[in-house]
Amino acid sequence: TPIIAIVGRQNVGKSTLLNRLAHKNLAITEDLPGTTRDRLFATVSWLDRRLIMVDTGGLDPDIESVIGQQVNIQISLAIKEADLVLLVVDVKDGLITPDYEMADIIRRTGKPVILVANKADNLKMGQEATEFYSLGFGEPAVISAFHGTGISDLMDRVLEELPDQPIATP
Ligand code: GDP
Repeated sequence: TPIIAIVGRQNVGKSTLLNRLAHKNLAITEDLPGTTRDRLFATVSWLDRRLIMVDTGGLDPDIESVIGQQVNIQISLAIKEADLVLLVVDVKDGLITPDYEMADIIRRTGKPVILVANKADNLKMGQEATEFYSLGFGEPAVISAFHGTGISDLMDRVLEELPDQPIATP
C-alpha cells in the first residue's frame, strides 16, 4: 500500500486535511504512540486505490531541545517511509522561514513532492498561491481543508504520482 506523508510546519492544517480525507472515505484513524505528538495514520480509499496517509508533527523550531529533536526525527522517518510527500503551506500566512526549512529537508530526500497550498477559503486566496512556486516544487494544489475544496483535484494528482499498482482480482 502506498504511503503518503503529510508534512509542513505547525498550524498549516495537516490534521485538518487528514481528517477531511478520513471522514470522506474511510476507514480507520489510529493513534500510534509517538514522542511528543502522535503520528496519525489513516487508511484512505480514493477511486479504488488504498493509501496510507501519515500526518507528521510540525517541524519544531526549537531544534536544540530534546523534544524538538525527537519531533524532527519523527518527521524524517515519516518522509523516509513515504512513496510521496505532501508539503502543506498556508495561503493565509504565506511563506515563512520554517516552510523553507521543511522544503529543504524534503528536497534532500529526493522523494516526489506535491505542494499543497491550504487555507485558500476563497478564489482570491487561490490566486495568491503563486508565491509558492518559489519553493521549487512547481504548481501548488490549492485547497481548503476546512471547506473541502480542491481535495478531489489533489487526490487525482496523488494517484498520478504513484506507481501503477496491479488491481487485485477477487
Ligand atoms: P497542523 O498543526 O498542521 O496539523 O494544523 P491543524 O490541522 O491543527 O490546523 C491549524 C488551524 O488551522 C486550525 O485552527 C484549523 O481549523 C485551521 N485550518 C485548517 N485548514 C484550514 C482551512 O482550509 N482554512 C482555514 N481558514 N483554516 C484552516
